[in-house]
Amino acid sequence: MRIGYGWDSHEFKPGIPLKIGGVTLPHDKGLGGHSDGDVLLHAITDALLGAIASADIGSLFPPTDPRWKNADSAVFLREALQRIRTAGYELVNLDSTLILSMPKIGPHADTIRKHVAELCGIPGDCVGIKAKTPEGMGTDNAAIANVAVLLKRAEVGDDTEDLHDVLNVIEPPRV
Ligand SMILES: [Zn+2]
Repeated sequence: MRIGYGWDSHEFKPGIPLKIGGVTLPHDKGLGGHSDGDVLLHAITDALLGAIASADIGSLFPPTDPRWKNADSAVFLREALQRIRTAGYELVNLDSTLILSMPKIGPHADTIRKHVAELCGIPGDCVGIKAKTPEGMGTDNAAIANVAVLLKRAEVGDDTEDLHDVLNVIEPPRV
């Protein structure tokens, strides 16, 4: 098994949509950044990449690359999921804590949880979405996301079963 940890922050800017976990939330400000500024999807992506000791999100999708301007952050997450599969792992569960003063996440937590679960291809009860206000931190104009993920070795597929059959034919079990 592998654990991974990701952290991200973005600053609130007026006049852009607020996207958290791939869900657009009603608010008068959004999160600035080169992509769509989805702080939660970025932290999940980095947690997945970190769990397999891969290059991080900033190295794979540099802000200097015009391809990622206003990009849907689900693209980054899909790439990270593909990389953990290639490395022979699958995602078991993830837990997150968002830290932001506004808007309140509580009423939207279930929608975000279901959407993130769908993006990650895991059951809804394997995604934790928690939110705190930044008491005494002085980060009222920012959104911060902390994420932990657990990976396990991918299930043995049919191909490997076939290989076992072949090996049994070559080397029949001794009786
Ligand atoms: Zn980010």
